[in-house]
Amino acid sequence: MNSFSYVRPAEIDLAVRDVAAHQEAKFIAGGTNILDLMKVNVERPNRLVDINQLPLTTIENTADGGLRLGALVTNADTAYHEEVEKRYPLLSQAILAGASPQLRNMATNGGNLFQRTRCYYFYDPAMPCNKRQPGSGCGAINGYNRIHAILGTSESCIATHPSDMCVALRALDAVVQVLGPLGERSIPIAEFHRLPGDEPQYDNIIKPGELVTAIDLPAKGFADHYTYLKVRDRASYAFALVSVAVGLEIDGDQITDARIALGGVAHKPWRRSEAEAMLIGKPAQKASFVSVAQKLLEGARGYGHNTFKIELGKRAIVRALEQAASGPTNLLQPM
Ligand code: SF4
Repeated sequence: MNSFSYVRPAEIDLAVRDVAAHQEAKFIAGGTNILDLMKVNVERPNRLVDINQLPLTTIENTADGGLRLGALVTNADTAYHEEVEKRYPLLSQAILAGASPQLRNMATNGGNLFQRTRCYYFYDPAMPCNKRQPGSGCGAINGYNRIHAILGTSESCIATHPSDMCVALRALDAVVQVLGPLGERSIPIAEFHRLPGDEPQYDNIIKPGELVTAIDLPAKGFADHYTYLKVRDRASYAFALVSVAVGLEIDGDQITDARIALGGVAHKPWRRSEAEAMLIGKPAQKASFVSVAQKLLEGARGYGHNTFKIELGKRAIVRALEQAASGPTNLLQPM
């Protein structure tokens, strides 16, 4: 591991200025991903700015009826927060599907947004990887790619985004609040993460020195009809092969609003508005769901070991929609 300096500012402005002033400096909060990456020499910051003393640890109502999640609230405290459980159970369910209790007790909401891919080649500096070392090639495209993406891929990278929480945030149309050297900005979660294109080294649109301060949830939480369905190799402590976050509004037997976000299939949580629009005015029945699943997976491409995800994805979408339509679910117990 490289040597690095370490500071622990108590003010947000100081933390932002510090990272902006030092090239190769990084924020650290729970440290559940960055420390792993530093141990294998994938991340090599020369300065760590510990933000755990910053006042970003509350969950509060917003003026427009939504909820603001502080960036430093842990994933566990968010998932079990009374207002989140009651108004945004989809988010609780997704968080509890991720990682392990120990990790959720350390990991923060802000940090969850910055999780890096678990592509095997990315973690192995002996292998080519355009994300770790631009221009070196991609070990996964013609290598072992069982966990890799089937949508939104490029010739440079087929990595997936590993977060469960972000899939629910995408379904809920969350907004990320950011403070940087040039001031504040609000970023819709749909724009926060990016597809790899020919610059896979960038996972998101955050600029150097910018700090996520909060995540805002809009008022609509889909608390009556939701599900987070995660398909994975083990029942606990495993990343999604495919996951589906669904929120529905149903009037009588007709769907009046629908959100479907996919995890484990792309470089960012995946949504397709045309697919969701196909559900509006339709009965909440399986017959309505199959063509929606096909639409969501339109253009999917397998790379060999991961080709099974195309059919798996379609089936998972139909099942998730069925579960959400039938009412509140508790099918996934926290592990
Ligand atoms: Fe690197 Fe992306 Fe290829 Fe994985 S898929 S080896 S992260 S370039």
